[in-house]
Amino acid sequence: MVDQTSGGLRENDHDLLFDEDLNHLKHANAIRDMSEKTGLNIILGCGWYRETYYEQRLWRMRTDDIADEIVKDVSVGIDGTDVRAGFIGEIGAHFNWLSAIEERVLRAAARAQVETGVALGTHATRGPQGLDQLDVLEQEGVDLSRVVVAHSGGYPRHKYHAEIARRGAYISFDRMGSLKTGNDYERNRTLGLIKWAIDEGLIRNLSSRTTSATTPTTQSMAGAATTFCPPRDSQSSAKR
Ligand SMILES: [Zn+2]
Repeated sequence: MVDQTSGGLRENDHDLLFDEDLNHLKHANAIRDMSEKTGLNIILGCGWYRETYYEQRLWRMRTDDIADEIVKDVSVGIDGTDVRAGFIGEIGAHFNWLSAIEERVLRAAARAQVETGVALGTHATRGPQGLDQLDVLEQEGVDLSRVVVAHSGGYPRHKYHAEIARRGAYISFDRMGSLKTGNDYERNRTLGLIKWAIDEGLIRNLSSRTTSATTPTTQSMAGAATTFCPPRDSQSSAKR
């Protein structure tokens, strides 16, 4: 979690923070307090992360009922508050395939995206499952230009990144700058992947962010957010 109390992001001209840690949904009012005290515009994510973190009740719910909960988080408020989410995600796969319940949650998230119009992010690491996620989202009628596939650098294949972009979604090169878990090899590999994507003309489909929990100076997805997640009348944030 970034040190939002210092207001340091303001000094660095970052006035937008994506908070996709779904645990924070339980603290919606506290997040709004932080936003109001620091002047930082915080966009909260919503939905369910990946199977190992799911609540047991999801297995017994209809897909449309799961979707309704996400729609409610975006359009009414989170956990009985009037703090609304402005982003769906991360919606993930635990391994490099989608489990049955993960696919169902993703379908629910897709239906909620179609209804609300807010952007959606998936979690996909160490495999090409981001393409499987795009398949499901496309089947449900999601406009893939409102979708970002996170951790794309975790599967360092040009073909994978090119295909995400060809389908209109965003390739997220993230987890950069991590002092605890990163190393020069990984950082240089990621830079090489980004350079390749730019040389291939895919710059409009690039999204980037740092991993806030492990970096002393945090940048959010702010750069990409202006294009990936432009302000919309229907889009809410914790600041409102
Ligand atoms: Zn993730």
